[in-house]
Amino acid sequence: MKQFKTESKRILDLMINSIYTNKEIFLRELVSNASDAIDKLHFISLTDSNVDTDFKIKISIDKDERKLTIEDNGIGMDEKDLEKNLGTIAESGTLDFKKENEQDLIGQFGVGFYSAFMVADKIEVYSKKYGTGEAFVWTSEGANGYTIEKCDKDTVGTKVVLTLKADDEEEKYSKYLEDYEIVGLIKQHSDYIHYPIKMDITKSREVGEGDDKKTENYIEEETINSMVPLWKKDKKDVTDEEMERFYQDTFHDYTKPLKCYYNKIDGLVSYNTMFFIPSRAPFDYYSKDFKRGLKLYCNGVLIMDKCEELLPDYLGFISGVVDSSDLSLNISREILQKDRQVRQISSSLEKKIISELKKLIDEDKETYIKMFKEFGQTIKFGIYNSYGQNAEELKDLLMFYSSKEKELVTLKDYVANLSADQNVIYYATGDDVTQIDNLPLIEKIKDKGIEILYLKDKVDEFVVKILGKYDDKEFKSIQDSDLSFETDEEKKEIEDKEKNSKDMLDDLKAHLGDNVDSVVLTNRLKSYPACVTASGDVTLEMEKLYRSMPNSNMPPVIAKKKLEINADHAIFSKLEKLYLEDKEKAYKLVNVLYSESLMLEGLPIENVPEFIGNITDIMAD
Ligand code: ADP
Repeated sequence: MKQFKTESKRILDLMINSIYTNKEIFLRELVSNASDAIDKLHFISLTDSNVDTDFKIKISIDKDERKLTIEDNGIGMDEKDLEKNLGTIAESGTLDFKKENEQDLIGQFGVGFYSAFMVADKIEVYSKKYGTGEAFVWTSEGANGYTIEKCDKDTVGTKVVLTLKADDEEEKYSKYLEDYEIVGLIKQHSDYIHYPIKMDITKSREVGEGDDKKTENYIEEETINSMVPLWKKDKKDVTDEEMERFYQDTFHDYTKPLKCYYNKIDGLVSYNTMFFIPSRAPFDYYSKDFKRGLKLYCNGVLIMDKCEELLPDYLGFISGVVDSSDLSLNISREILQKDRQVRQISSSLEKKIISELKKLIDEDKETYIKMFKEFGQTIKFGIYNSYGQNAEELKDLLMFYSSKEKELVTLKDYVANLSADQNVIYYATGDDVTQIDNLPLIEKIKDKGIEILYLKDKVDEFVVKILGKYDDKEFKSIQDSDLSFETDEEKKEIEDKEKNSKDMLDDLKAHLGDNVDSVVLTNRLKSYPACVTASGDVTLEMEKLYRSMPNSNMPPVIAKKKLEINADHAIFSKLEKLYLEDKEKAYKLVNVLYSESLMLEGLPIENVPEFIGNITDIMAD
């Protein structure tokens, strides 16, 4: 007896003792696995004429033995596959068991095959893989473990045999041994499965004449699904609910999509498409393992499961299907990239999706914000990675956190709310809202009632720099020295103060060494005694980005820094006084000011013990 991997075991325990109310989803999961397996063999059959292409899924019931069987003639599994696919759920990624809520857990991982343990106390999986000679059976009675043995099976494919649990107070498992129940579930959840789902249905008929007349039961095999893919139906006959269910079944996501779209496009190439905005990113979305793309069908027949050529990278979060009868059936991956029809579909689809997203901003901003929080990075990288080529297209899809709204806003929103005399877009960079909220330079700008966009993602500043302007309004960092808020008098006042303190400021700069380009006075600060700003082309944010890159072989990217001291702050008076009375202490103070300012920007300080020592000395007075 082999043991399940720890994580699988937990899922299994959950399933076996499940109080989950939608236990019937097990059937949909098994049927969808069968259909996926047939898809795979179907694909092979395009180049191997020996494959039996009479594809079907067969469901049978044995009431006496309490057995429900789902059999397919798909690709099948060999010993290794059985071990890998059914012995572990590692394929579904690392589990976050913090999600103790069963509903969430089942949802998060779409527990697939294991859901059968909600209704069965024994599962046997007989399988013979395409291209192999031997068949194997995987057997498990739950959490104790499983066995894999050789078995007899003539045909390629998989047969899953469930022995149903005994009925109890909560659940009458016997219902899954009733034809009508199974037929109902298939119609509800798996109607559009592209292969026939067949079942031996018990029917009755009258036989004999006169007194000999009696009712006799007989069995007839019937196809119980309509096999019409949802996207081939008339748009008016397709409900949102059906689309949501289709999305969940097809893309193995338990959560409902944020938005469903169904379009029939007639153009140079005609196609039907159903596409979806998922409500959350798949667990591997931001890893390199994530495979994006839409399912590509030719006239209802799947030709590629994830066709990435259909979508640009920056729309990689969209799920969906495309079906066109203008494509050739046995199109190969190599040809696909160059295929004119595929390119035409892709460019028309790109336009369609962008226009739908823009519409969503206008019609349902709340949903758009949810989408952007989950997938906005992808769109931003679309601008960054194309060196701005896509900027024109994508700029209206961008959102940034607004200091005023305390929520994401579009650039259009920002500009629409500008006062007549403001002709720039202010932004501040940092790691998160709290850090940016506490940036020294932000206080006075906020006091003036000016809205500031918070750039929290690493890519944001690059995006803003690539865009340069939006609607003729230049992007300006709150760090910029020429924010032109001050009146001429204020400017003159600070220049005079600086002139008076020039010798001291130059000396302090010399003391801080190469770290700092200059030490100046400022009237841009309110409660903070000082801040650092970047004086060259490299911004503080870029330096942070460089520092966050592991083992970078790049030459160091370090911002030239300016230490700006608040001329109206008591600490400045103290500094001036100390400078005259105890120069060493003044140096310590300016060191502390510099270190504090770095920390507020989220930059590291080089010598922590020295910093602590300086503070201690100053406090000792
Ligand atoms: P998922 O379908 O989400 O990948 P499952 O737990 O349902 O997760 O199935 C795990 C894997 O087992 C599938 O990815 C597939 O490789 C394999 N599998 C399950 N059922 C079948 C089947 N009927 N025929 C062939 N392979 C199957």
